[in-house]
Amino acid sequence: MLPPVKKDRVITQLPMCFSPNAALHVKDGFHPQVKAACQLQKTDTVSFNLAKVIVVGDVAVGKTCLISRFRKGAFEKNYKATIGVDFEMERFEVLGVPYSLQLWDTAGQERFKCIASTYYRGAQAIIVVFDLSSVSSLAHARQWLEDAMRENDPSSVLLFLVGTKKDLSPVSTATDRPLSRSPPQSPDQLVQIEQEAVRLSEEIKAEYWAVSAKSGDGVRDFFFRVASLTFEANVLSEIEKSGTRHIGDIIRLTDSTEADCQPTKRKSNCC
Ligand code: GDP
Ligand code: MG
Repeated sequence: MLPPVKKDRVITQLPMCFSPNAALHVKDGFHPQVKAACQLQKTDTVSFNLAKVIVVGDVAVGKTCLISRFRKGAFEKNYKATIGVDFEMERFEVLGVPYSLQLWDTAGQERFKCIASTYYRGAQAIIVVFDLSSVSSLAHARQWLEDAMRENDPSSVLLFLVGTKKDLSPVSTATDRPLSRSPPQSPDQLVQIEQEAVRLSEEIKAEYWAVSAKSGDGVRDFFFRVASLTFEANVLSEIEKSGTRHIGDIIRLTDSTEADCQPTKRKSNCC
């Protein structure tokens, strides 16, 4: 028997997007069908209770620090993905339903661009990470996405483009800067890189976020959004597959709910 979900992992409302200009949607609540299904759900055998989330991007952009900041609530410079364990589980409760994200981090394979297809396969969300202070890491984002997409169905995957190291403002001291990062950017360059990131997000239909693993800024909100959107997509897809009335022991929709809310096909950029 699993221990109860921690209080700080309980999601009752759909979290806001980071930028309305580059969001998967800007509505302010969960889909009515999802809310209805969760109210009526039978607890133990839900089949939508898990999402595989993969994290890709250039080496040293901050992927591992991002995950570890969320998992442990701290900035761990020397955190290493455990060799031999491919993912970490992060447990939530969404609208009263237990739900987990399987967060897949590379164990350094991205250095050699030889990530195995098992890493990519079956992802419900792809998080493409770049370093807000490195133009080249953003330029490589598209290639990371293409590689990851080769193993996935574009119509059922949610994409996130995440700029990290937001704390590295142009006034940061040199000692704050990790060795791996590019030379300091001017304020104009930072604005430009964000504009380019928003433009790319629109093009690839990703949701854009800027975060800092060091300060923690945006990290929790971001992962809550990932959990909520993948959860919503999973439930909607279950409803759609079931042809409404009955999904084994999983969801029962009342007649009124069926009449009000016919299942709709989810688009990757819109709900
Ligand atoms: P990965 O190779 O993409 O997993 O990158 P890491 O998570 O190992 O981070 C690479 C380097 O960037 C390390 O030196 C981290 O300390 C640094 N780093 C990661 N996130 C941040 C951040 O939010 N702010 C700052 N200032 N440095 C960061
Ligand atoms: Mg890493």
